[in-house]
Amino acid sequence: MRKEDCIFCKIANGEIPSKSLYEDNKFRVILDLGPATKGHALILPKEHYVNLYELPEDTAAEVMKLAKTMAIKMTGKLNADGFNLIQNNGEAAGQTVMHYHLHLIPRYKNDGQHILWKPGTVSSEELEEIQKQITE
Ligand code: AMP
Ligand code: ZN
Repeated sequence: MRKEDCIFCKIANGEIPSKSLYEDNKFRVILDLGPATKGHALILPKEHYVNLYELPEDTAAEVMKLAKTMAIKMTGKLNADGFNLIQNNGEAAGQTVMHYHLHLIPRYKNDGQHILWKPGTVSSEELEEIQKQITE
């Protein structure tokens, strides 16, 4: 299914132009318009899934395969020093466009970006409690 008013549905399916890096029958990879670094790109499925919670398992596997191929190609062509894969799910996690997308972010020594979190602290009792909460 594609969603009428979804900008990424339109971009993925070629109704709105974008700077495409790759396309097949299920995905398009485009350059991000607000890049974190040179070459920041997005993998977009052509079907509309809001985020990871909706993404079918086989599509999730295909996205990760494509991410690996793109990461290797982009790292070589752009002479990058590293690579981040980032994927936000839900407003609380920073998702702003509600069509699944995986960020492909080439990294360069001293690129000035900070894709980091502030490490917290946790006791071993708390870790055990969290482990139980998730696994039981
Ligand atoms: P997120 O915050 O994970 O939802 O990421 C949304 C990303 O989409 C941001 O990095 C934006 O810069 C990017 N973006 C939004 N609109 C467009 C567009 N029309 N073409 C390319 N990238 C876009
Ligand atoms: Zn969509």
